[in-house]
Amino acid sequence: MGAGVFKPDQTVKTVSSLIPKGVNWIKSAVAAFLPEENKLLLDGCRTVQYEHLVVCPGIKLDWDKIEGLTETLGKNGVTSNYRFDLAPYTWELVQKMRKGKVIFTQPPMPIKCAGAPQKAMYLSCDYWNKEGVLSDIEVDFCNTGAVLFGVKDYVPALMEYVEKYGANLNFGHQLVSINGNEKTAVFKVMDGNKETFVTKEFDMIHVVPPQSPPDFVRASPLVDEAGWIDVDQSTLRHKKYPNIYSAGDAMNAPNAKTAAAARMQAPVVAQNLLHDRG
Ligand SMILES: Cc1cc2nc3c(=O)[nH]c(=O)nc-3n(C[C@H](O)[C@H](O)[C@H](O)COP(=O)(O)OP(=O)(O)OC[C@H]3O[C@@H](n4cnc5c(N)ncnc54)[C@H](O)[C@@H]3O)c2cc1C
Repeated sequence: MGAGVFKPDQTVKTVSSLIPKGVNWIKSAVAAFLPEENKLLLDGCRTVQYEHLVVCPGIKLDWDKIEGLTETLGKNGVTSNYRFDLAPYTWELVQKMRKGKVIFTQPPMPIKCAGAPQKAMYLSCDYWNKEGVLSDIEVDFCNTGAVLFGVKDYVPALMEYVEKYGANLNFGHQLVSINGNEKTAVFKVMDGNKETFVTKEFDMIHVVPPQSPPDFVRASPLVDEAGWIDVDQSTLRHKKYPNIYSAGDAMNAPNAKTAAAARMQAPVVAQNLLHDRG
């Protein structure tokens, strides 16, 4: 959507169309876990009893951790494909851009789909290249981390595109605040133990928000020290509560937080759960 390849209505589905027959959909958010009593507390203080529980509420997007971002997101050239409704704005900005400065950011790990911050850059650069305007656009990739991608084998192929598009790589650069009206972004720059702050101007900026476990998960008795649901990485069974499983971005198996991983975890949980239920 952010590169105009898909229209929003091609990518969206209603939740009801995904609920399998025979499953009762309770249209209420979970507010808290009561694992000692095998109960969930729902919004509105209703409780639900369970024999087995599978927890997969995903990851929280922490937009507010970047000062000034919420106020300016969706205008002033500030966009993010991490919001479904803003991906079309990314595409609008990409099409309008003919010259100027563009920044793509990546927050501290872990984030869902660690490739997405770069994907936005490559797809945008590809469009500008085809339009013949890339040489008039200064592209910066500002990554909090110290490497282009966590899996080393992929880095050479990605570097080919970084070089092809002439993008500037800035490692150790964490976006901390943004001023949409002035079109400036402030980065905390780590060089060893030394911390400095750098202000960069932009005409367009694609922001990936910092991410963390959802609040109601972090505050629960189900989590490890970092706030992720604490599972055995082979079985995906909770380490303390044997009738609880978890899959997806919210738990602490050491895989990347991606749909590709969640897809492979689902059959593991299903198989083990069926076995438990005899
Ligand atoms: C821009 C972008 C690009 C991506 N590209 C890729 C890609 O190319 N390949 C890839 O593999 N992955 C990609 N991902 C990552 C992928 O979307 C996630 O890793 C995946 O969706 C995680 O699945 P999940 O089921 O754990 O969480 P989610 O898909 O986030 O689902 C969590 C569900 O829990 C529900 N929920 C949350 N809180 C509560 C509550 N309190 N009570 C009840 N329900 C609740 C939510 O409504 C939601 O339905 C991308 C992500 C983004 C944002």
